[in-house]
Amino acid sequence: MKSFKRTLLAGALALLSLPVMADAAHPKIGFSIDDLRLERWARDRDYFVAAAEKMDAKVYVQSADANEQKQISQIENLISRGVDVIVIVPFNATVLTNTVAEAKKAGIKVVSYDRLILNADIDAYISFDNEKVGEMQASGVLKAAPKGNYFLLGGAPTDNNAKVLREGQMKVLQPAIDKGDIKIVGQQWVKEWNPTEALSIVENALTRNNNKIDVIVASNDATAGGAIQALAAQKLAGKVPISGQDADLAAVKRVLDGTQTMTVYKPLKLIASEAAKLSVQLARNEKPAYSSQYDNGSKKVDTILLTPTPLTKDNIDLLEKDGFYTKAQIAGQ
Ligand code: BGC
Repeated sequence: MKSFKRTLLAGALALLSLPVMADAAHPKIGFSIDDLRLERWARDRDYFVAAAEKMDAKVYVQSADANEQKQISQIENLISRGVDVIVIVPFNATVLTNTVAEAKKAGIKVVSYDRLILNADIDAYISFDNEKVGEMQASGVLKAAPKGNYFLLGGAPTDNNAKVLREGQMKVLQPAIDKGDIKIVGQQWVKEWNPTEALSIVENALTRNNNKIDVIVASNDATAGGAIQALAAQKLAGKVPISGQDADLAAVKRVLDGTQTMTVYKPLKLIASEAAKLSVQLARNEKPAYSSQYDNGSKKVDTILLTPTPLTKDNIDLLEKDGFYTKAQIAGQ
């Protein structure tokens, strides 16, 4: 009898001292997003949550509002809530090494979403092929203006994607530079991918070059929007080919009215639902189907890379066919 009681007591104590056990049937996922105020990330969140809930997971979403410290404390908060997986869209790729280590110590899996977290022990990375996106941006404007003065408007210097996009862009532009067909007259990174910052960078670039900029290689639609405002002030909108990516609604309208040459469509429902599946698989200790590996400076990270599609006026109706926008949204003012 005595020993039975002791066993019971030991069992109860063991239960009490155990960390909250992961419930594989109902995994808990933390989603830490750089900045939910941007159109695309709010869509990523909605698709992600919907897909995860279908698989009986519960998602806790946090937006860091482009603040590095805020993101770190939000991730710490998710760690102490005892989630099974944390999915992160990093604001700054290089500052999460210790925070990720804390999560891993607590037995939490970490997934890098769209942007790669550098120098950290993450479990997986999922994104679109950003090098391809960069190639598409450069090819799109090069086709429209095979010769002339090019200005390179890069993304946020804290975002690894900005560098990968540039690599893709240069792959396409270098042969034309070597031939002497095009000349890079300036290049700048846009802090936080901020449209207002892009506007003033392009304003200054136009002034410095006496408006002799023939092409702008912009790395996303938000910054292209700022750049096009600067062009419009000089009556150059529509005359200077300019790229983008994301198929933001405003950009789609600009492509249709001819002030933006192209954008790149990345079906957000696809990345979000693949990421939700990947997270639930990790929580259930199942093996996700990775397509490649990506070196993040500390390890070769198992990666799923999805395929982007370039869009011009000619094939922009794909967005409607794919359910990304309705006809009314595209036609709306
Ligand atoms: C994403 C782009 C986005 C940009 C700004 C990049 O990391 O890949 O789709 O436009 O961040 O949020």
